[in-house]
Amino acid sequence: MDDIKIAADKYEILDHSPIGQFVLRRDFVVIFWNKCLESWSGISRDKIVGTNLITHFPHLEEIKYIDRIKNVFNSSAPIVFSSQEHKYVIPSPLPGGKLRIQSTYITSIPAQEDGEFHALFAIQDETSVASALESNKLALKQLEEEVEERKKMEKQLVQVARYDSVTGLANRTLFREVLIRGLAKTRRNHNTFALMFLDLDHFKDINDTMGHDAGDMLLKSVADRLKGRVRGVDLVARLGGDEFAVFIDDCDPDAAAHVAQGILDVLAPSHMLGSNEVFVSCSVGVAMCPDAGDDPESICKSADTAMYLAKTTGRNNYQFYSQDLHEQTVKRIHLENDLRRALDQDEFLLYYQPKVDMSGKVIGMEALIRWQHSKLGMISPGRFIPMAEKTGLISPISEWVLHTACLQIREWEANHYLSKDATLAVNVSVKQLKQKTFWDTLQRILTVTELDPRYLELELAESAIMDHPEETIVLLEKIHQLGARIAVDDFGTSYSSLNYLKRLPIDAIKIDMSFVQRIGKDRDDEEIIKVIITLARSLGLQSVAEGVETKEQITFLHENKCDCLQGFYFCRPLPAEVATQFLKEISSEGMSEEAECSIGS
Ligand code: C2E
Ligand code: CA
Ligand code: CA
Repeated sequence: MDDIKIAADKYEILDHSPIGQFVLRRDFVVIFWNKCLESWSGISRDKIVGTNLITHFPHLEEIKYIDRIKNVFNSSAPIVFSSQEHKYVIPSPLPGGKLRIQSTYITSIPAQEDGEFHALFAIQDETSVASALESNKLALKQLEEEVEERKKMEKQLVQVARYDSVTGLANRTLFREVLIRGLAKTRRNHNTFALMFLDLDHFKDINDTMGHDAGDMLLKSVADRLKGRVRGVDLVARLGGDEFAVFIDDCDPDAAAHVAQGILDVLAPSHMLGSNEVFVSCSVGVAMCPDAGDDPESICKSADTAMYLAKTTGRNNYQFYSQDLHEQTVKRIHLENDLRRALDQDEFLLYYQPKVDMSGKVIGMEALIRWQHSKLGMISPGRFIPMAEKTGLISPISEWVLHTACLQIREWEANHYLSKDATLAVNVSVKQLKQKTFWDTLQRILTVTELDPRYLELELAESAIMDHPEETIVLLEKIHQLGARIAVDDFGTSYSSLNYLKRLPIDAIKIDMSFVQRIGKDRDDEEIIKVIITLARSLGLQSVAEGVETKEQITFLHENKCDCLQGFYFCRPLPAEVATQFLKEISSEGMSEEAECSIGS
């Protein structure tokens, strides 16, 4: 009813008309009833507005008047009703009994979006039809102007409601409308279209380091380039944050690939944000429709899945959605769900791999997690750790690892299986390191397990440390002061600033196995290993080579004075009981290189 009241207000101008006028909605509900009609019919506006016209004039139905009114809704031309018909609309006797009604002139308001119908009655009496029509025209004109005005306002509202204020691109609402229309067209014409989802790589870094204004400038610059790259009939939308969508109508996979590559190319040159020059790349997921889904939700999901693949395959590339990809995704989602339950179901295990010094003496162990999946068997951390990081499960899992490892050392220590200076290394992921609770968790576990921290070594990937070096230094200092050791894992795989390396409280550098495994095959890699060993030595750090598999590698590492070795040549990672047995044996006998070797095979 409130809607009708609002609609009625805009017709108040018709109260000035000397002729009877009312506004009817398509469903025959009266929207407006002017003053003139109130006096002619004796029915007040309050009584009739919001009710069905026919309930007041039931005989309209009998004479097919209704059908004629319906016709008016469907045509823009005015329709003239005869007085014969008219007399049913306005009941007699009319006030004063003077009026002789000869014809009713009915017309509809042009292009009313809400389907309202405006009936104008021109009535012959003392006032001539002509002058009535004249005043009618005036009223109509004013009404049209009002409609125009309203349309303008509506247009502004549409602009706000359907376009993104930062970039001027279509927003999610308009994008969805276009997608729905695209789908309807596909069903009708059996054509195909492409939907692309685009996510800027590392946009957050720019926002964080340069501020939101710079971030907005970059979004705008990206938006302009994207718009310039597609045709006028296509649509570029900003879905929020640094996520964009591109809708390419009538397009086959080749054309879509061409556009996707074009998008990567067009974004590649530097963007000027004020006086700063920045570079940005993006990951694009392409879904060809209707193959990739036949409703907006499933298409968006497909494009998103493809984008995820683009992100995980090194960013700055595009990927198409396919059935295969779909199956992989389903598998991944299942695995993610299983991962959520794995801790409760006790499916994680720690394996332990020894580290030896150049004399073959075991100087420590590294804990490596395994997932014993009830159906899929043993799953390696390379597969589920990234998943755990993405889903936030890394926290409870890491806590379990740390706790289990600390208990294990306690057991070995109590049984004197470990030499006094031996350590157990635990891997710490980037996400874990960044968590504010890391320090508290570490302290709590050390307290609960009553472990002397000097037995514990934390292995942090080089990339994790160099991500936020300043903050990391503070945290590592605290850990170091506790007495725990710190090693940089996978060294050589990412860029380390020598400056930070000098300031970091680290004890060891683990040379990434990719270098070790190319000993004897690649001179450059050999050179890198030599440099890393020299660097470690000059900083007073222990150098550890991981992934050692051959005698040739050992010889090279020995010649170049690497401190410690770890790898299948000596020993594969062992389940806890086997590792315990192994330590027990060597603690009573001591271990020769040959003995270690036999364990590995
Ligand atoms: P990483 O820390 O670099 O561990 C070394 C990986 O190389 C281990 O794989 C190990 O089994 C394997 N390896 C050891 N010696 C050799 C060798 O001679 N040849 C070859 N080809 N491989 C060797 P794994 O256990 O699959 O672990 C993979 C990665 O998963 C680890 O790399 C580590 O980054 C991560 N990870 C393992 N356990 C944990 C954990 O408890 N927490 C976290 N956050 N990450 C873990
Ligand atoms: Ca490691
Ligand atoms: Ca490593």
